[in-house]
Amino acid sequence: MIEKKPPLTIRLCQPRGFCAGVDRAIQIVVLALKKYGAPVYVRHEIVHNRYVVEGLQSLGAVFIEELSEIPPEHRQSPVVFSAHGVPKSVPADAEARNLFYLDATCPLVSKVHKQAMRHQRLGRHVLLIGHAGHPEVIGTMGQLPEAVTLIETEADAASFVPADPAALGFVTQTTLSVEDTAGIIRALQERFPELHAPAAESICYATTNRQEAVKETAAGADLFLVVGAPNSSNSRRLVEVAERAGAAMSLLVQRASEIPWNEIGRISTLGLSAGASAPEIIVDEIIDAFRQRFDVTIDLAITATETEDFPVMRVLRDVELTAADMAFVNGAA
Ligand code: SF4
Repeated sequence: MIEKKPPLTIRLCQPRGFCAGVDRAIQIVVLALKKYGAPVYVRHEIVHNRYVVEGLQSLGAVFIEELSEIPPEHRQSPVVFSAHGVPKSVPADAEARNLFYLDATCPLVSKVHKQAMRHQRLGRHVLLIGHAGHPEVIGTMGQLPEAVTLIETEADAASFVPADPAALGFVTQTTLSVEDTAGIIRALQERFPELHAPAAESICYATTNRQEAVKETAAGADLFLVVGAPNSSNSRRLVEVAERAGAAMSLLVQRASEIPWNEIGRISTLGLSAGASAPEIIVDEIIDAFRQRFDVTIDLAITATETEDFPVMRVLRDVELTAADMAFVNGAA
């Protein structure tokens, strides 16, 4: 007798997965490979996702951490800077080495760079709210000629001693927890009422929308899965948001093979989302893995519609990008 599969409702968050900045960065590498041929060098993981990195490697991309790793015989090959942004010293170094570089920094990260520079131009000491060591934080700090103070927690906000409390401005990393960041900003504003905010919100639309979608769907879920990498800041924040919003258990997984079936046991409601650097093809893989064990009903939880689309740089616009070129991340069209 065939055993009946237990029913499972998957609350599938929308929006989820790739944001416009990640999509653009991957397109830049794919188009550069089409236009110039392999190898195309990429400084740092183009986006924080192993599957994406390995997919691009199989097309001919070579990932490096420093420009000095490019062998002299490949100095004519393009080098792409990752979506997280780079310190100013990196393009300067590329120019000094006579390299041809393509900067895939997300335009929303570049906007934060500009806001931070504006604070300094106006004589303000910059407070950067973010996580130490994250490439975006390193990139933002590296835009500024003068020192920046990194604020990671409310405790940092409480202990910070400025030279001039009337001349302070803040920006934030784009992928932080909306709630935690609001707490840190409040703590700073209470101590320094003259603190200048950036002209526009630093946490980006994609981070905000994905957190909001998780918040709306996590309550009452027996399990909430976020597809993403451990070094992906926005993915990790989604796991925290799901926990806080009332999911009984919340986990980050990179592939279906990481789902801890023994721990999960019998569940009837699963929340599912993906970080901004996690490809849709993995979301499909995870749903398929659940279909093998459960009688799945998909409940699409739409909380926002995203229309953002960041064009690639002019030099790559003459190359056609087909659905087949992006099938390794988006699945078959
Ligand atoms: S998460 Fe936001 S800032 Fe980062 S690449 Fe995506 S859109 Fe840009």
